[in-house]
Amino acid sequence: MKRAVFLDRDGVLTQEPPHYAHRVDELEFIPGSPEAIRMLNKNGYVVIVVSNQSGIARGYYPEEDTDIFNQAMEKKLAEIGAHIDTIYYCPHHPEAIIEKYRVDCDCRKPRPGMLKRAEKELNIDLKKSFMIGDRWSDIEAGKRAECKTVMVRTGYNLEKLKDNEITCDYVANDLFDAVEYILNSS
Ligand SMILES: [Mg+2]
Ligand SMILES: [Zn+2]
Repeated sequence: MKRAVFLDRDGVLTQEPPHYAHRVDELEFIPGSPEAIRMLNKNGYVVIVVSNQSGIARGYYPEEDTDIFNQAMEKKLAEIGAHIDTIYYCPHHPEAIIEKYRVDCDCRKPRPGMLKRAEKELNIDLKKSFMIGDRWSDIEAGKRAECKTVMVRTGYNLEKLKDNEITCDYVANDLFDAVEYILNSS
């Protein structure tokens, strides 16, 4: 079984705000995050993005835009020799405007559906894996999947949260700091 680092996209890997980023011209990495991904690659971690994309359900942008954005992100990462192994996202919302996405699904964080899916599809040992996020729902999804959890002080956390509102294994300044912690503790 393999060890993974699960990470949220918006506010962890890429800049948030803008909230509901979906156009390629809104794609901007948080400084150091591509290098952090490359360090995980070199150290044998499977890198998996797990992202809530309720903007699709809310009708803010079509699902295709998410795929185009993600492809552009992967292309930019490749330029420095970094790669994401798998990207999962949840397009659902229980009160979606668009009917086909109106589902009380098990993949929308804080539910751990995307992490459980990786466990099955990619043979991941969740107990030896980490979840990195900027919101309570990321950390909660990680805990429910029995992963270790790291909160970053970027993205949503920079605007809204206080560190003491959440319990997790480590609070990091950013993704790069989070990855240094993970590599030192494993
Ligand atoms: Mg986020
Ligand atoms: Zn879902």
